[in-house]
Amino acid sequence: MTEPGKEKLKKLKGIPVSPGVVIGKARLVDRSRVKILYQYLVTDQQVSREVDRFKEALGAAKEQIVAVKHKMPEQLRKHAFILDTHLMILEDSMFCNATIQTIREEKINAEWALKKSVQNIEKLFAQIDDRYIKERIVDVEYVAERVLRNLAGQEQESLSEINERVIIVAHELSPADTSSINIGKVMGFITDVGGRTSHAAIMGQSLKIPAVVGLETVTHHVHDGTLLIVDGYAGQVIIDPDDEQIIFFQEKQLQRERYESSIIRLSHLPAETTDGYRVAVRANIELLEEVVAAKDNGAEGIGLYRTEYHYLKSARLPSEDELFEDYKEVAEIIAPDPVTVRTLDIGGDRVSFEKGQAKEANPALGLRAIRFCLKEVGLFKSQLRAILRASAFGKLQLMFPMISGVQELLDSKAILEEVMRDLDREGREYDRHIQVGVMVEVPSAVAVADLLAKHVDFFSIGTNDLIQYALAIDRVNEHVAYMYQPFHPAILRMIRQVVEAGQKAGIGVALCGEMAGDPLCTFILLGLGIEEFSLNATGIPIIKKIIRTLSLEGSRNDLGEILELETATKVREVIKAKMRPLLKELDQQGLITSFNNQEKRSLRHG
Ligand code: PEP
Ligand code: MG
Repeated sequence: MTEPGKEKLKKLKGIPVSPGVVIGKARLVDRSRVKILYQYLVTDQQVSREVDRFKEALGAAKEQIVAVKHKMPEQLRKHAFILDTHLMILEDSMFCNATIQTIREEKINAEWALKKSVQNIEKLFAQIDDRYIKERIVDVEYVAERVLRNLAGQEQESLSEINERVIIVAHELSPADTSSINIGKVMGFITDVGGRTSHAAIMGQSLKIPAVVGLETVTHHVHDGTLLIVDGYAGQVIIDPDDEQIIFFQEKQLQRERYESSIIRLSHLPAETTDGYRVAVRANIELLEEVVAAKDNGAEGIGLYRTEYHYLKSARLPSEDELFEDYKEVAEIIAPDPVTVRTLDIGGDRVSFEKGQAKEANPALGLRAIRFCLKEVGLFKSQLRAILRASAFGKLQLMFPMISGVQELLDSKAILEEVMRDLDREGREYDRHIQVGVMVEVPSAVAVADLLAKHVDFFSIGTNDLIQYALAIDRVNEHVAYMYQPFHPAILRMIRQVVEAGQKAGIGVALCGEMAGDPLCTFILLGLGIEEFSLNATGIPIIKKIIRTLSLEGSRNDLGEILELETATKVREVIKAKMRPLLKELDQQGLITSFNNQEKRSLRHG
């Protein structure tokens, strides 16, 4: 289907954060910031009145946030912690005491003093490298804005008052805004600012309404009542579409819904090839909140639980009990299926929480993952204790990231055994036969896979890092992103070597890098002997569907020919030819994102 009248369209491109297509009228929400004026206070009486005024504004902000929290729709309850964070900010001394101190010492008005406090907090956040934590400064700004509005006596329009079928258009939306959205009325939202990890984005997904953020100037192009098409798959917004375009997108949406429901209906079937070979398809998760979606999408367990979030979300270390509760809940929800908990992989592009730690010149080659844990033994032990204690409540497996050789593995296992002995002494319950595996993601681990295999119960190949380290391309550097080639013969050979080592030792080999979720890779991974695919939950129905249309024998037979090919491009061509009918179907539904435009054209017209 080609999009009609393309050149006539007034389109904006942003970041798609919640899927779906909606067509409807815009409703502009003014979220412009309160203007702050400087005022010098002359008398002590004025100063103490100003302090009281600030305290009142804080109190009112607290009441308002609590009220939003109480009215939060069921779907968003799991995000209530965001509003709790806002309540905590209101009580934070850098926010509240510092402002009062500035009012008193500098004899200035509350607005200006608060502005200074926020600037100081911003300076602190600016030193943090991690994008997720950096973005959390917006929470401080939302709270400050609320207090400033209270100081100015300006009521902000609450989104809960919007009772029409509209698409919300705003410069930005706070978590309190998205929490107040009237489900069943509001059809979607689009904003000028925001990123993939913004809370508004996360909440849009929970509300299951299409959302596009980061459109930069959408509020300048749209008025109340402007007709809009929001494509939450492609991150596109069309302003004032004509009839032809409306029909085109209505059909696109219908077609997609039909297709998605057809594959989701089948997603609970086992991932079994046409010749009866059963593969495990599991989910990669980063948060407890994703577990239910993983199950709904047909995950047969969690193949990779990335555990960094608890360490990155705040400046303090998570307690053992906090971690235990989290892992226990995941284990209980997923039981009897397994959950593979990966120990902390901090460092690299995931910044360390250790304030003041020197910035490394090559963080990806630095003190990352298991290296960091072997240095910070206390922290490592606390996580291991939490995992082991939780293993009494379901089927937990444990996995070490970035293992580069046998010694590192033995050192890690020695600490694990020490922790087990401690738990024995304390009489605590845990699964003493817990399966222990390693991520194979460093080229040296591939070279010694046969040796590593003797000491573990399973391998999980992390192709994201394996490709980075094997092809010497920084995975977060956009200039070399074109070199990210899963079909590079070196990568395919490495996967084969790891699978062969695993098979020889009689241990399972999973794959949990992005390759596992790429429909184009399924055929070759099956042929290579991968027994477990672990991927983002949303991709599971498609990967299961592909596995159900392939035969193990077919993919094995073609393996020899493919492994002889000299370049990634050739491998890609051969695989595309073999999977052509299926890929055509997936492409028509827009489900293949790894194709470039030329590949898409040749698939459609070839
Ligand atoms: C990988 O490296 O392939 C992997 C799954 O781990 P992460 O992306 O968390 O580094
Ligand atoms: Mg990795």
